[in-house]
Amino acid sequence: MSRVLYPGSFDPITKGHMNIIEQASDLFDEVLVAVLCNPNKMQGMFSIDERVAIIEKLYENIQNVRVISASGAAVDVAIAYECGAIVRGLRSLSDYDYEVGMQQINKEISNGSVNTVCLFADKEYQFVSSSMVKEVFSLGKDISRYVAPDVRKQMILKRR
Ligand code: ADP
Repeated sequence: MSRVLYPGSFDPITKGHMNIIEQASDLFDEVLVAVLCNPNKMQGMFSIDERVAIIEKLYENIQNVRVISASGAAVDVAIAYECGAIVRGLRSLSDYDYEVGMQQINKEISNGSVNTVCLFADKEYQFVSSSMVKEVFSLGKDISRYVAPDVRKQMILKRR
């Protein structure tokens, strides 16, 4: 069985993330979406548990997508959950530069057992990021092009 880990901050999950999850769920038997607690990132808009709940609701009817929260290194989570690969989404050259180093480190740490698969979002999501969505939202602009309706609803509730 091919199980892959899709780790990230997902604060909040965007249509770009969702596009990567859809592609991965078509390619692999199971996609484990891991909301990682990153101590280097300032406190986010949503708590880790809220992010997990939002993503779980989006995929409640998709059999091969599971959601977990975890702390620590993605490669350790991948090993613990017996994932053969880590999925990452590539948007730009700066994503590439970062990911090329990370995949090398992860391969070394796991003695070659955890590889990295990079996928590309469809072009309409190429420039979508959680931080961009939060910024546009804070300016009072419509974000329905970038996030699912339920995510937008949760953001509006959070702002109140
Ligand atoms: P991280 O803090 O690990 O970058 P993110 O939640 O920002 O967490 O992103 C998780 C993964 O999804 C990363 O591999 C990131 O490059 C990818 N990703 C985010 N947005 C997009 C997008 N619009 N298109 C493709 N990949 C994306």
